Order: sequence, then C-alpha cells, then structure tokens
Amino acid sequence: MNKAINETVTSDFDITKVRSDFPALDQEIYGHKLVYLDNGASTQKPRQVIDKVKQYYERDNSNVHRGIHTLSQRATDQFEAARVTVQKFINAPSDSEIIFTSGTTESINLVAHSYVRAFLKAGDEVIISAMEHHSNIVPWQLLEQQIGIKLVIAPINHNGDFLFEEFKALIGEKTKFVAITQLSNALGTITPVKEIIQAAHAVGAKVLIDGAQAIAHTHVDVQALDCDFYAFSGHKIFSPTGVGVLYGKRALLDSMPPYKGGGEMIKVVSFSGTTFNEVPHKFEAGTPNIAGVIGMAAGLDYVSELGISKIANYEHDLLEYGTQKLLTIEGLKIIGDAEHKASILSFQIDGVHASDLGTLLDHQGIAIRVGHHCAMPVMEFFGVEATARASLAFYNTKEDIDALVSAITKAVEMLK
Ligand code: PLP
Repeated sequence: MNKAINETVTSDFDITKVRSDFPALDQEIYGHKLVYLDNGASTQKPRQVIDKVKQYYERDNSNVHRGIHTLSQRATDQFEAARVTVQKFINAPSDSEIIFTSGTTESINLVAHSYVRAFLKAGDEVIISAMEHHSNIVPWQLLEQQIGIKLVIAPINHNGDFLFEEFKALIGEKTKFVAITQLSNALGTITPVKEIIQAAHAVGAKVLIDGAQAIAHTHVDVQALDCDFYAFSGHKIFSPTGVGVLYGKRALLDSMPPYKGGGEMIKVVSFSGTTFNEVPHKFEAGTPNIAGVIGMAAGLDYVSELGISKIANYEHDLLEYGTQKLLTIEGLKIIGDAEHKASILSFQIDGVHASDLGTLLDHQGIAIRVGHHCAMPVMEFFGVEATARASLAFYNTKEDIDALVSAITKAVEMLK
C-alpha cells in the first residue's frame, strides 16, 4: 500500500448512475445522508435485483421441479437459468457443479459433512489460516471432536500477510484438506490462493476456498484456480440474503454422500432402500430459496455488466485514498496492512472503544461495523478485542471516505 494518494479516484463507470440503482443508499439517518461502509457484512441491492425478486413473487411464484403448470415451469426455468449464470460468473466447467445453499456458512458445512467427514479419518490434517471467519473454523473444530481430524493453523504476520513459505512447511503426507479464505473479512488480506492450491494438490490434498468476501471484489475463475470447492454468499454480492453457492468439481461431488435428506435430493424412496438424485440436486434437499436464487442471478449480471476488473481497480484506488486519509487521524492504527489487500479498512484509535465510535458514527449517518467480525482468533493475534471496520463497495466514493474521516474526528473529540 505505497502508491501516492489519489485525490481523484476516478471510476470507469458512471458512479452517479450506479448509486441511483441502489435505493437504500438514498436516505438520511439522524438527519445525515447515509454513508454505507458496511459492505463486508452485507451489501445493498440494486433495483434490478429487487425488481427481479418482486416480479417472481408477483407473477411466477411456485415451486421448482415439481409441477407441470405454467408458473412452476417459469419458476424452474429461471431457477435453472440462474445456475448457468453462476456457472459462467465463476467459469465453472458445468452448471451441474453449482449447488445452491443458504450461504457460505452452509456451503462450508456441506463440504465438512459430505467430504471431510466421509473421506478423512482420525489423524488426517486439515489446514486453515489464522485469519479465517468463524464459519471456516468451527465446522473443522466440530470434526476434530467428532472424528479426530487434526486442525493445523497456517500463520500470518503482523501486517496480516499470509505466510506462504510457513504454510508450505506445514504441508505433509498427513495433509488431506485445506480450507482458506481468499480475502480476509477482518483484515482485507488477499491470500495467494492459486499457489496454496498448487502446494496442497502436490500432496494430494483437496482445497476449499472461502470466497465470501472475494467474490464481489476480484475476478474468480475456478478453473484457472483449480480449486476443488469454492463457497460464497449472495448477500455479499448485491444479492438477497439466505442464498449462496457451493462450486465443487463434478467427480468429487459425485463421490460424496448427501448432506441433508428430504425431497428433491432423491430418485426413488422406498422402505427397502432409497436412491439419490444426480448432482447438483443430490445436495439440494427441500424447497430452495427460489426468489433468492433468481435475485442472485440478477445481482451477478449487474456486477458482470459493470465489470469486475473495473470494480477492482476503482476500489483499489479508494482503499488507498481511505488508508492515507484515515492515517491522518491522531492515534489511529490500521489493523491489517498486507501487501495484497482489498476493500477492508479495519482500525483502532487510542483510548476509543470501537463500539462507542460505531454509535457516534451512526448518529452522523455513517454505517460501519465494530466488533470481532466473527474472526476472534485474528483479533487475539493482534491483541485487540474489537476493531472498527469500514468496508467498501463500488458505489462508495471519495466523499464517503471524507465524511467518515470527519465524523471520526468529531466522535473522537466527543469521547476524549
Ligand atoms: N467467510 C467470510 C470470509 C466472511 O466474511 C463471512 C461473512 O462475513 C462468511 C464466511 C460467512 O458468510 P455467511 O454469513 O453469508 O454464511
């Protein structure tokens, strides 16, 4: 993060038009224009997504794969078209490798239960990093208790960089699985996932990438990465809550037992034995979040139209601008200054409690997140209980950063 401050931060897209697509951005909080900087927790939704969900409920609402009537056909067609949209968005070889889940958390738990529980045994090692979100820690800890796998933690340094050589040194013949975030929600670190995957594959270990944060900020190509599994949530990429994706390589998905039992995931049910449906349906028991899936396809289309590389460039400049502006505040320390970083500004201010700061910022219309960001181990590593976190999206502007800095300055004066 050493580029000179960029006072202009220009976008290759029409930022005024983009902002007008997001109705929630156009409101006042406590008499101040809303400045929404909590995109790491959840993003706002463009009108295109809201309209799509509304249209589904107003016209097409029905169950999928179950009826021959027109509404059910329409719902099914849109639901399956959404699978192809996701496939293309992450460049998966086949739409059968796209499983709809309720979000990243469920996607990771699916892999924990249907792959790791089924194929690993006591003493086998699963490597995660020291900066994972709880949803990429706890499922593995549960399996540690239940089947005796060993969880191994790959270290980071005090800038928040992933230590690749140290990670490689942990890999050995016992390593059977690696689960790593592509972008840390607490620090903003971008991890070298391609190299991690290559190193894991060299010993035959499979790799899951937690793409919850990365998906909205970097171009994801699961074939170029060669990851075995990739997980993300709709709500982090301008799409509805309660819907997400697990990509898995077809051969692995075929070999895995189902995760949940119920309707939709079966071929034939009988008391003498039940046979399971093909992938992806084998992993989609019960009525899915149909409106969410259809809305997510609209969200991905929106991002594709803007262009993820344009988004990444714009956000990169905004992150540098924000970093340098924040550092002008006396006593402010950025937590996480990795060489490769995106979208997250986590910080602490001497003598100021993060939750007090969050409240005072809210009263000035600024939405940030304060707390441990569901990453308590990384907070412990940095010796802090909580940080304040501003997380960016392409609809944020230099003016948003200026408003944040001026609101922090006011808040600190009030708190001291
Ligand atoms: N992984 C990371 C890196 C995250 O940031 C989050 C959410 O903040 C998750 C996983 C969990 O995502 P969800 O709550 O949408 O399942």
